[in-house]
Amino acid sequence: MISSRGDGLGFAAYSPDSQIRARLWTWDDKEAIDRTFFLHRITRALAFRQAFINPQSTNAIRLIHGESDLIPGLIVDRYADWLVVQFLASGVERWKEEILDILSELVPVRGIYERSDVEVRKLEGLPERTGLLRGQDMPDRIQIEENGLSFWVDVRAGQKTGFFLDQRDNRLRVRQLSKDKDVLDCFSYTGGFSLSALAGGADSVVAVDASPDALSILRDNLQLNQLSSGHVQCVQGNVFQILRQYRDAARDFDLIVLDPPKFAVTASQVEKAARGYKDINLLAFKLLRPGGILVTFSCSGGITPELFQKIVADAALDAECDARIVMRLFQAADHPVGVNFPEGAYLKGLIVNKESGDR
Ligand code: SAH
Repeated sequence: MISSRGDGLGFAAYSPDSQIRARLWTWDDKEAIDRTFFLHRITRALAFRQAFINPQSTNAIRLIHGESDLIPGLIVDRYADWLVVQFLASGVERWKEEILDILSELVPVRGIYERSDVEVRKLEGLPERTGLLRGQDMPDRIQIEENGLSFWVDVRAGQKTGFFLDQRDNRLRVRQLSKDKDVLDCFSYTGGFSLSALAGGADSVVAVDASPDALSILRDNLQLNQLSSGHVQCVQGNVFQILRQYRDAARDFDLIVLDPPKFAVTASQVEKAARGYKDINLLAFKLLRPGGILVTFSCSGGITPELFQKIVADAALDAECDARIVMRLFQAADHPVGVNFPEGAYLKGLIVNKESGDR
């Protein structure tokens, strides 16, 4: 890259087919983009995780988080003895073999599997791709540990790379809040929050997800942790509809988790996404008992923390309840945010307490 005056600015990967034409490798126009460059970047990312993630607490960690680790387009998740990688941009695709060599050298694992079956590759003019890249093929499901709980991860067919590692700390929070509570876990996936609630002593858990495969793993995860399924109801369906059914049936809960998928994928979808967030949060406030707790998230990059807080406040207002924000939540440390890449702070959450008295 050169400035209008002809000075060198640095190096970027050029994607002629993408709206993001250039992804920055470095501001240093003397730094070569070669194997050593990737070796340094990957070594730095691994050292950062060692400093910030306690290996006793989990064996499932995001080792490389794209832009925030200064390797735009590369995602590397470790699940026990396997790595799952996503090459999301043409820059890292070009250096794929070198990156895989370095990963094999620095991280002793049994195999490396690719899950580059994501829409954004199309925007880069790249085909979707999945399959084994290095080493041994993995079992159908990998068992991982997170804060004393075990989970099955379906790396081949699960969502994203198989597990939502960014919610690790927030699952622990929910665990701490769940004692003796009746919990509703909306968008449960394989039960990250449901199992955390049970481990925290919840009286009952209702887990709702659209995916039968996710709920089937959730049931297996209960068994894996010897948590009684007697207190758990798995409901397959659309959260927007299920919440309405529960409202009409006057069902109520002490703690509700809302962890929906990204409603706004592009900037143009923000308004529609905001309506979606408002809708589920409003219904959740109605289903909460007085004094109940709402743990609500948005992982849409286009929804800022300020906007999200406003949506949740509007939802409380329309549900005619008073509420107070107790805590702001964020993505786990293995999903850091580069200071020059604020868009990387995609996950925002609020713990909200519904007032116990009527207005
Ligand atoms: N809380 C989970 C991650 C949730 S990911 C964890 O900690 O692991 C979002 C989930 O929402 C996915 O499992 C997806 O199947 C589900 N989903 C998406 N749209 C839905 C809808 N309208 N109703 C119910 N579930 C939905």
